Amino acid sequence: MRAGSGGGRLTLLRGCRLFTPKDLGTVDLLLCCGSVAAVESRIPVPSGLDVEAVDLSGMIATPGFVDLHVHLTGGGGEGGFSTRVPEMQLSRMTLAGITTVVGVLGTDDVSRHPETLLAKVLGLRDEGITALMMTGSYQFPPVTLTGSVRKDIALIEPVIGVGEVALSDHRSSQPTFEDFVRLAAEARVGGLLGGKPGLVNVHMGGGPAGMDYLFRMLKETEIPVSQVLPTHVTRSAELFEQALGLVEAGGSIDITASGQRRSGGVDSSRALSDLMSRDLPLERVSISSDAGGSLPVFDSSGVLQGLSVAEPGTLLSEFRRLVREEGFPVTEVLGLFTENPAGRAGLAGSKGRIHPGSHADLLVFDDEWELRRVYAGGRLMALDGTPVVSGTFESTG
Ligand code: ZN
Repeated sequence: MRAGSGGGRLTLLRGCRLFTPKDLGTVDLLLCCGSVAAVESRIPVPSGLDVEAVDLSGMIATPGFVDLHVHLTGGGGEGGFSTRVPEMQLSRMTLAGITTVVGVLGTDDVSRHPETLLAKVLGLRDEGITALMMTGSYQFPPVTLTGSVRKDIALIEPVIGVGEVALSDHRSSQPTFEDFVRLAAEARVGGLLGGKPGLVNVHMGGGPAGMDYLFRMLKETEIPVSQVLPTHVTRSAELFEQALGLVEAGGSIDITASGQRRSGGVDSSRALSDLMSRDLPLERVSISSDAGGSLPVFDSSGVLQGLSVAEPGTLLSEFRRLVREEGFPVTEVLGLFTENPAGRAGLAGSKGRIHPGSHADLLVFDDEWELRRVYAGGRLMALDGTPVVSGTFESTG
């Protein structure tokens, strides 16, 4: 068994300041068998047991990040086959503090398939993190594992919803409103049957229709607003205004991390300030990386001008930027990276918070908010910016 693994050895983390996201002050944490066994102001070293005690005085501990939107099998492909993004490797996520990830396909469901995504999700679990997935892709009708979105969600354990289904985007298959609502209904029933969120993760493009289908769904059908989760909502001021309206109507939104001050659209710091000034609950907001997705630039006639790839590290940079540079209290923004997305993914209780019985997914930062340690399921995955556990085919240097 590897040192520090969650498989039996106990880990005692001593003297760290814990944000859950609530500030619990300085505590000791005992990790056992992949879970948090105790959180106390002082925990004596259990005698007669194999315990690794780690002094974390002066350090800060938080729950591991939950990223709802990663193109695990690689996204892209919008510029021909040479622009297909490679698969996401384990340590690129763990080094960014991501201990739970939800995989999605993207524009390309011709050379990428839900089966491959499922295999990748299961592989990442073997490698040490928690992984889930959405069935479908940008397109309608959706690609599925079993021939039905409803069955995929109900019967295939890692599948928690469908998406990212593209709306108001030239890469969308331009579903009719009826197509979209039928998809949401399928996801809802699949979720009910399987005891899962049955989320419809909606990729919002920059088209003028914006979230019109979502508001029409609320007005004309019985499908609850909690069924849909639009993402990329800070793409433009107009789209974000609609996003605020959706939160006002009781819905949730997902912001794509930029990791730096945005030049176009709405910066996440501005987005959070807008939510707060309107007294809208930040609990309904999550931030995801969109890692592995391509960032294509098209000209006004739809011709590809160039593309780059979104990195998992933007999630960590975004968190640190909001806390260190934009001055948001940790207790206000941490939930956007942890508790809120865990709730959307149906993992409230086990992920995104730290308490006795929660999974031992923990990040340890120094007082400059540099990420020093990453634990997933009680196992040390990364230390001081270097992977301790690498993916199967990652170079160990
Ligand atoms: Zn997208």
